[in-house]
Amino acid sequence: MSFYWTSGRVLIREVVFEADLKNISPVRIGAGREPPLEASADLAILRIRREGKEEAYIPGSSIKGLFRSHAEPVLRMKNPRIAPCSGLSKDNCMMVRENYESLHDRIQTLQRMGKTTEAMKLFFEKTCLLCKIFGAPSYAGRVIFQDAYLKSEASYGVRTGIAIDRRTGAVFRGQFYQVEYVEPDACFGFTLRARNLPNYALGLLSKLVFMMRDGELKVGGFKTRGFGTVTLENPTLTIINYRNNGADLEKLEDIDADVGLSDLASKTDGKWVISGDNAWSALKRLMEVWNSVNLS
Ligand SMILES: [Zn+2]
Repeated sequence: MSFYWTSGRVLIREVVFEADLKNISPVRIGAGREPPLEASADLAILRIRREGKEEAYIPGSSIKGLFRSHAEPVLRMKNPRIAPCSGLSKDNCMMVRENYESLHDRIQTLQRMGKTTEAMKLFFEKTCLLCKIFGAPSYAGRVIFQDAYLKSEASYGVRTGIAIDRRTGAVFRGQFYQVEYVEPDACFGFTLRARNLPNYALGLLSKLVFMMRDGELKVGGFKTRGFGTVTLENPTLTIINYRNNGADLEKLEDIDADVGLSDLASKTDGKWVISGDNAWSALKRLMEVWNSVNLS
């Protein structure tokens, strides 16, 4: 194979999924570590200054982390013999050593020698699917999750927590702290941008999008107390095909499969747009490719 979809040098296509992310239960994305081990710290939520206001937002990195960690069991369930790495700094494909040299260093050496195709070939052959999709050290990944900013007014609440010693389980005497959160029914703009992903990988992301829509991907902290349940509404799928300018998504690998979407899409400003229930149908078609792909 001469083309690797992990290579960012040729832009073949871009698939963008947008939706309204609404929280059904309170959501808190903290600015620091939580819960506090000592001292009665007040736990403020993470905020960003936009249009003269300090307001809550969900960093794209948090959403990406959430998607990657939920992709792991999905991948294992598909094929128990495939063990994806966790993506953490000490447990990722790039750190695996062969003849005392890490994959990361071997790729860097090839790149320094100007052998970029060989470097990409080595990366493609040696990394797990999650590294290819979500990224690895020195490799940006082919999916971008944008910071999710508020599209509606939000109200904020505060709940009192009790600091517990995580080692002994004992309550620190008088160590109460205030936990700030976003009240239910706030609306954030969710955007996922996938570049050059084969249809089965788009299908894996589609599966995770459905899981998020159905409340299975919980956002932020205090999940054990019922925080973080969200849903997705008003979906839109936008397709920009640089190769053939069509709405259909051709397969990008031997194990991949073509997906026809022309019947669901309409052309707006030179892009193919699929919205509402049709967007869910499109995601379903992609998910079917994921369900039937044979990963070895
Ligand atoms: Zn990996």
